[in-house]
Amino acid sequence: MTNKRTLSIIKPDATERNINGAVLKMIEEGGLRVIAQKRAHLSREEGAEFYAVHAERPFFDELIDYISSAPITVQVLEGDDAIERYREIMGSTNPADAEPHTIRASYAVDILRNTVHGSDSEENAHQEISFFFNEDEIIG
Ligand code: ATP
Ligand code: MG
Repeated sequence: MTNKRTLSIIKPDATERNINGAVLKMIEEGGLRVIAQKRAHLSREEGAEFYAVHAERPFFDELIDYISSAPITVQVLEGDDAIERYREIMGSTNPADAEPHTIRASYAVDILRNTVHGSDSEENAHQEISFFFNEDEIIG
């Protein structure tokens, strides 16, 4: 099961614009498979807990306001090298730097409202998946 799973969030800017399907299409066409999925609307406290690693960053407050501003769709994705593959499909954090045909180049509003989240390491993927899902909700 090494590097087979990653956590994906379709963020508030995407759910607000009703483009979940368009984003998911890019994920599936990129070779990844959804094995768990739910909607959530995080409180500020839950957002701060999820993004605790960024607590010292200057944009932390606006990040927490943003992630708790509207519903999100949370997914576990499965595939070979899922973490790296999904980060390729997402593109760079700042959409201005993102490769063409990535999710962020196609849909992100700006560096904050950048449409999607993906885990950045195996340890974080494991931790982020358990933040949102019990093992019996993951059906591969
Ligand atoms: P994510 O963790 O959401 O997949 P990432 O790993 O590309 O994105 P991080 O550096 O982990 O980027 O930042 C987490 C999130 O914080 C970004 O996705 C974005 O929403 C926001 N963010 C990052 N840098 C900035 C910034 N300079 N100004 C405003 N928001 C930012
Ligand atoms: Mg990150």
